[in-house]
Amino acid sequence: MLPTLIRFNFNRSATIGFIGLGAMGRGMAANLLNKTFEGQSGVYTYDPDKPRPAFVVYDAFPEAANKFLTEHTRAYAGRDVLPASSPAGVVRLASTIFTMLPSSPQVEEVYLGENGLKEGLESLGDEKRAETLFVDCTTLDQAVAKEVANEMRQVGAEMVDAPVSGGVVGAEKGTLSFMVGGPAPAFERAQPYLARMGSRQIHCGDSGNGLAAKICNNLLLGISMAGTAEAMLLGKALGLSPDLLASILNTSTGKCWSSEINNPAPGALPHAPTPADRDYTGGFLSKLMAKDLNLALSASKDSGVPLPVGSLTSTLYNKLSAHEEYSDRDFSVVYEYLKEGMQGGVAEKVMEKLNNNRKK
Ligand code: NAD
Repeated sequence: MLPTLIRFNFNRSATIGFIGLGAMGRGMAANLLNKTFEGQSGVYTYDPDKPRPAFVVYDAFPEAANKFLTEHTRAYAGRDVLPASSPAGVVRLASTIFTMLPSSPQVEEVYLGENGLKEGLESLGDEKRAETLFVDCTTLDQAVAKEVANEMRQVGAEMVDAPVSGGVVGAEKGTLSFMVGGPAPAFERAQPYLARMGSRQIHCGDSGNGLAAKICNNLLLGISMAGTAEAMLLGKALGLSPDLLASILNTSTGKCWSSEINNPAPGALPHAPTPADRDYTGGFLSKLMAKDLNLALSASKDSGVPLPVGSLTSTLYNKLSAHEEYSDRDFSVVYEYLKEGMQGGVAEKVMEKLNNNRKK
């Protein structure tokens, strides 16, 4: 007897796609999957008249997709969690698609490249194109995001930019904040899905405005972290213990997230240990902060707004990012980098370069 052929019979309108299962994406996708299919499992009987919803994933790094599939495939009977072999394959099966990629080049590739989302969408009819919504959660260049959204609109779909704050822990716990840019109806369509991955969804205006908010926030975050690291180092050199100085800053006008929650000096927050107390492991990587500061500088060029403090901070973080020892550690490791500089290390050279630039 021939084995029974299982026919794929998915309800595209109710199927979700997720592309980019890295540090952030895997936790976000797990929450989206679990909260969408919660309570829906049970014995499934094949019924050709009742196409079923599925959850489709893709990552350029096959191990990332395999890991996600191993952890989730069997969780919901009759609710398939399956891989696609390209972004085009994702959009053929799913009408609501999330992307969480490193930055602009990867977003351009996944949306506009060969076997990309646009190509996949073009192979579908008008009705399927019109029901398609793309939600890009990547932190990328605002101009690139606007261009990609425009291209997707031209082929009949809708798109919003929805970068996040809250880090890997927020992604895992489903407590992220989303800053969303795009037309109001598209935001309203995206909101129920975003609510499964985060606790706040803020509509910031047109396409690109979610990224504008995210880029401004991270510009300030980078500056405040570098400033906190300088204050903590100076305090230590002047004879103050890190916990005493932190307790004073945090009840005074110098208080900020970098001093209060993610203080860069080891031992500064004895009751709430930080990445600094774990040798700067975990957290938000220096190389990602460098990337976000570069995005702020590029926006500054486009808008004509000068960012003198931001560009100094960006020089610092680009140095960290180029340095194996610092690049993949929490961005509060700028404290250690500056400390090295005190001993005649790399940071001193940065200061030299900054001073030379200022003289030009
Ligand atoms: P990551 O590098 O861990 O994950 C990115 C994933 O995308 C990887 O699994 C990678 O294999 C995949 N990928 C890369 N190119 C691809 C392609 N062409 N096609 C398909 N998949 C591809 O990065 P992350 O830490 O998850 O960050 C993602 C985004 O979120 C970045 O823009 C980052 O700035 C932003 N962000 C990160 C944090 C954080 O704490 N990590 C916090 C807020 C925002």
